Amino acid sequence: MRMIDLIEKKVQGQTLTTDEIDFIVNGYTKGDIPDYQMSAFMMSVVFQSMDERETADLTMAMMHSGDVVDLSSLPGVKVDKHSTGGVGDTTTLVVAPLVAALGGTVAKMSGRGLGHTGGTLDKLESIPGTNIEQPMDRFLDIVREVGVAVVGQSGDLVPADRKMYALRDVTATVGSIPLIASSIMSKKLAAGTDAIVLDVKMGSGAFMQNLEDAEKLAHLMVKIGGILKRRVTALITDMNQPLGMAVGNALEVREAVELLFGKIPEGDPLFEVCMLLGSHMLLLTNLAASEADARTKLKEALFSGAGLKKLRQMITAEGGDASYLCLERIDELCKTKKLIPVYPKRAGYICAMRAEFIGTAAQMLGAGRASKEDVIDPAVGLVMQKRLGDHVAMDEPLCIMYVNDEARLEEAIETFHLSMDIEDAKPAPVPMVYDVIVG
Ligand code: URA
Ligand code: CA
Repeated sequence: MRMIDLIEKKVQGQTLTTDEIDFIVNGYTKGDIPDYQMSAFMMSVVFQSMDERETADLTMAMMHSGDVVDLSSLPGVKVDKHSTGGVGDTTTLVVAPLVAALGGTVAKMSGRGLGHTGGTLDKLESIPGTNIEQPMDRFLDIVREVGVAVVGQSGDLVPADRKMYALRDVTATVGSIPLIASSIMSKKLAAGTDAIVLDVKMGSGAFMQNLEDAEKLAHLMVKIGGILKRRVTALITDMNQPLGMAVGNALEVREAVELLFGKIPEGDPLFEVCMLLGSHMLLLTNLAASEADARTKLKEALFSGAGLKKLRQMITAEGGDASYLCLERIDELCKTKKLIPVYPKRAGYICAMRAEFIGTAAQMLGAGRASKEDVIDPAVGLVMQKRLGDHVAMDEPLCIMYVNDEARLEEAIETFHLSMDIEDAKPAPVPMVYDVIVG
């Protein structure tokens, strides 16, 4: 087999066989196939696409390019959730403990934030002492004891994706739906879980900026899951504004704790997306009979404090100081030199938000990384005071910035203003959830 012939085949719009796809992924991972041929191949996929079987084969080949986590020693159906990347999305810290409190087994490997989106690991590390680097047997022990562990990756999972993603990033081949689907699914499957709820974000702050593409990606990932014998449900949820009000690491932990304390009302987008994610996790693992039953159970776990207790147990097991996780102490993690309100440049209705810019503004304050080497300040970020569609007067802040280092404050404020369109007419409301695709 020669790589040039396979590139040519895809350029002609033909379908590749399982063996041909294995050849490409194995050859590229080992270094036998050079970057320039892989770039040409991925560009041909951007234009000619891949069918479901090819994408499932690509996912399998990528998944087996490195270590695969074995969770078979854990009891029950192992369930995970994954978001395609949002701003102010602290759902993992709420949903994973709630599902565990209801008998679920959540063994989750999470990621760090890069660019405008946050990462769960960075949020966890804002709780003093928490060590997200746990050896594999300790990770499994924590899941066995507590029902839930969220840790960083251990072992060398999906090296093919690491190489391919770095190449896609610099060759304008990120946007291909089969390439995104195989990238996400190979990592989820290598992490060993039986069932996955995917939260495909749609809107200004997301990979998928329109519903048609989000539907295609969601359906494709559910299909791949089915072909590979995993239970997958995909939600398509809105990312035209931050999901929660907080954008920043400790600030998002605080919001998760507030939610688990029952301080965030039903109907709030963060509350509702947590309920939806949790419901489908319970349904996939047969821990609830219907969506209504799941919601009732989740609310019981929430309002009884069982979810919060699980989060505390997990943090303690990971070496963290869980005594911060209460309403009396959580503010200590969010203490900054200054609190700076950002007022609108005109009064009116918030007609559009670009969540990406809001994430970038928080990153400029030190809440996120522009490059992998950047160091995060856990306390900084911003807390939104208004939502899409709200009216705002000149003397009402749009957000409060939590600031330690003022070096990029001006830039952060300007970027924040660029994220908002304020006009006279009240806009039509946007949905929180666009679709649910059950595999
Ligand atoms: N997230 C991933 O992990 N991979 C992609 O290709 C896009 C989003
Ligand atoms: Ca549907």
